[in-house]
Amino acid sequence: MTEDRSLEAFRDEVRAFIRESATEEIREAGRKTTSVFAPFKQAMAWQRILADKGWVAPSWPQEYGGTGWSLEQRYVFAQECNRAQMPPILPQNLQMVGPAILGFGSDAQKEELLPRMLSGEDFWCQGYSEPGAGSDLAALKCRADRDGDDYILNGSKIWTTYAQHANKMFALVRTSSEGKPQQGITFLLLDMGLPGMEVRPILGLDGAPEQCEVFFSDVRVPCANRVGEENEGWTVAKYVLEFERGGSTMGAWLVPAVERLREQCEQVDELGQRRLDDPVLARRLEELEIEALAVEHTEKRVNAGLKHGQNPGPMASLLKILGTEVMQRFSELQLEVTGLRSLVYDPGALEIGAAPSDFSEDELLAMPYYMNTRAASIYAGSNEVQRSLLAKAVMAG
Ligand SMILES: Cc1cc2nc3c(=O)[nH]c(=O)nc-3n(C[C@H](O)[C@H](O)[C@H](O)COP(=O)(O)OP(=O)(O)OC[C@H]3O[C@@H](n4cnc5c(N)ncnc54)[C@H](O)[C@@H]3O)c2cc1C
Repeated sequence: MTEDRSLEAFRDEVRAFIRESATEEIREAGRKTTSVFAPFKQAMAWQRILADKGWVAPSWPQEYGGTGWSLEQRYVFAQECNRAQMPPILPQNLQMVGPAILGFGSDAQKEELLPRMLSGEDFWCQGYSEPGAGSDLAALKCRADRDGDDYILNGSKIWTTYAQHANKMFALVRTSSEGKPQQGITFLLLDMGLPGMEVRPILGLDGAPEQCEVFFSDVRVPCANRVGEENEGWTVAKYVLEFERGGSTMGAWLVPAVERLREQCEQVDELGQRRLDDPVLARRLEELEIEALAVEHTEKRVNAGLKHGQNPGPMASLLKILGTEVMQRFSELQLEVTGLRSLVYDPGALEIGAAPSDFSEDELLAMPYYMNTRAASIYAGSNEVQRSLLAKAVMAG
């Protein structure tokens, strides 16, 4: 299928911009990203470059710094960034707290906070999950009790990605135990490092401290930091989930990743053999290519429907399940293709700017990537929960 001329020109413009503006350090961080969360420093450096160009927030309204691109252009942008292996922009600022402020923030909050989110001057972490409240988020217990013009916070959060790097947090806290659990939740903004706050990083399966626990002991936060009304934080959180309706671009990541795996399989080893000569492996690679393309086409189909006023509805759940399952199968095949040499454990070699290792980047990355990808079926609404949503929507429909 040939691409619309203007879309082709846009693709060329994106490619040229990436070629000219991405530093070697940022590219290296992109190649060495083994998670949905890229290395912090370089991801933020890339964010600043995109912000200067005005390309950092494709889904935001133009008056607040959005690009005004069509959904097709947004997809092309994601494809080209992934093809060039740029570090993904961390979602907390632009896909999570930003939309909350856009939808429910006061004028003063918008004026002060949105520009700093775009530029990356502030980095926000997401304080939602707690030890007893993940899939069942409404069970959260971290309390915020009124004291004059302040709230006093007590409790804890867990799995807070990059809390150790953040200077701000957006959190869901309990302000009332009356009525349904969803009714007593408030959306609050706070500075990191306030007296009584403690951040403890958690080591992940791949050895990296990506998530954290955060503890609150009589932490004082001004009521003016609330987004929306007291006890109506659930409405704000739901709005954020809806904000990027149809904005999924997992296929734009999967297709080039599988292409790179094919290139790896085509390499001739010291015995003069190629992994691709193994017919079983070749067949699995082809199946994966088909699955990646299926994700891409489904995303494009959902986007096309949006243009005609359709809602993605249960397709959002279907894409979450399909995309993350294909991602996990990709990581398994990548591990098999890399073979025994993927057993190397050398986190130092994955540091940005590390001296060359005896192992190739493919070999160093396959195992941490495999380990980290186990989380894909848990975060952003676990796949089991998505299956229930899908079943309910289809049966009710
Ligand atoms: C990499 C990563 C990054 C994260 N980053 C953040 C972050 O920055 N901020 C934040 O607040 N949170 C974050 N989370 C937490 C994430 O939102 C939760 O892990 C997720 O909501 C699941 O909750 P849980 O871990 O408590 O598991 P649980 O909810 O206890 O689930 C355990 C298992 O039970 C299943 N299950 C639960 N309920 C049902 C049900 N009703 N029907 C069928 N099966 C069910 C689940 O599918 C899962 O397999 C992150 C998680 C990961 C893995």
